[in-house]
Amino acid sequence: MKKVAFYTLGCKLNFSETSTISRQFEEKGYLKVDFQDNPDIFIINTCSVTENADKKCKKIVREAKKISPNSYVTIIGCYAQLKPKEISEIAGVDAVLGAAEKFRLIELLDDFAAVQETKVLASEIQEATVFNNAYSINDRTRTFLKVQDGCNYGCAFCTIPLARGKSRSNTIESVVQSAHEIAATGVNEIVLTGVNIGDFGIVDGKRNERFADLVYALDKVEGINRLRISSIEPNLLTNEIISFAAQSKRFVPHFHVPLQSGSNTILRKMGRRYLRELYVDRVTKIKTLMPHACIGVDVIVGFPGETDELFLETYIFLNELDISYLHVFTYSERANTRAAEMDEVVPMKKRNERSKMLRILSEKKRRKFYTENLGKTFTVLFEEDVEDGKIHGFTENYIRVAAKYDPMLINELKVVTLDLINEKGNVEVLEPEMVFEKH
Ligand code: SF4
Repeated sequence: MKKVAFYTLGCKLNFSETSTISRQFEEKGYLKVDFQDNPDIFIINTCSVTENADKKCKKIVREAKKISPNSYVTIIGCYAQLKPKEISEIAGVDAVLGAAEKFRLIELLDDFAAVQETKVLASEIQEATVFNNAYSINDRTRTFLKVQDGCNYGCAFCTIPLARGKSRSNTIESVVQSAHEIAATGVNEIVLTGVNIGDFGIVDGKRNERFADLVYALDKVEGINRLRISSIEPNLLTNEIISFAAQSKRFVPHFHVPLQSGSNTILRKMGRRYLRELYVDRVTKIKTLMPHACIGVDVIVGFPGETDELFLETYIFLNELDISYLHVFTYSERANTRAAEMDEVVPMKKRNERSKMLRILSEKKRRKFYTENLGKTFTVLFEEDVEDGKIHGFTENYIRVAAKYDPMLINELKVVTLDLINEKGNVEVLEPEMVFEKH
């Protein structure tokens, strides 16, 4: 039995795809093992957004070869699509597969392994037009279910459309079927994943279905306790979706909505499809219908042309907005993007200072959000996340909770009352005997 090990860099989408490819290998009789466990084959799923993607890729290949010198090393994923030739020249790499080919790895591998030279199979990204269904199954807590891939937006800083191609989706029928399969494994929470999931519904280049209808259909799937939307563009997060989530028992009150900048000047330069006024409107709508909702925000600092004044606009905008946490990205130039050609480049020192300021703001926001919710009752999904005698989990509105460790709590949904914020910044619940089953 041949042993295969996987390594995933990047986002939830990559994790869902690695998981699906690993199931293909297991179905073919391969034994899935840990990276350290002398595999015969390594499959490394790369990311183009990761800082120093090339260095990381080289390092992982080096480690793989140290563990199993005679192993077969395959590189897939976004970075493999963007730089197939460079990757094929890394010592120790045996095969590189692009976006349109990675799901065919299982059929191609035997032929590949029979030849000595490094195999490179990465078509032009325009050829990645087929949607490949994928979902992750690691434990019973949470599954990332891919519903959409690619993006038609073309923001000035972004390489994802180059690495993943045009927007394309699964059908509602097929997503619902996957949700039933996932429910049958006992998983409690599904996170809907994609590159631009609000744009769900394009099949073979034609818009056939709507994301809101997918939301309605999934809400009816018995056996899944929680559904979470991973991230959705503000212009695609409609009142219809927000209003539905507000009364749904399965869709949780947690929205992750990329903002990228609080300055309209920068938003226009980035080629984003909304202005800050629309963002305020989305936050207000969510908070009016769900005052306890958690709202996470992606923001990029140091985009070309972001002067001190424009950064301050973003800072003040975020400070005044009723949001719960930030994911802060420090802008860095990416080849073949419009932004990389722009002038008014912000010095790296300034980018880092701004990033630090927003990270501090994020902590302040998170603490405020947690404090507002103390004394209230929520449902926690406990995970196999144990530290210093405490077990952790997340509420439906994404508050990280700590309770006294009890192995019986793992993968269980429990109703708890939030008590206090501990020194690690997590919320502690009342004593475990106060933890009782959800009715
Ligand atoms: S919406 Fe913009 S940032 Fe997001 S994937 Fe598409 S091009 Fe990239």
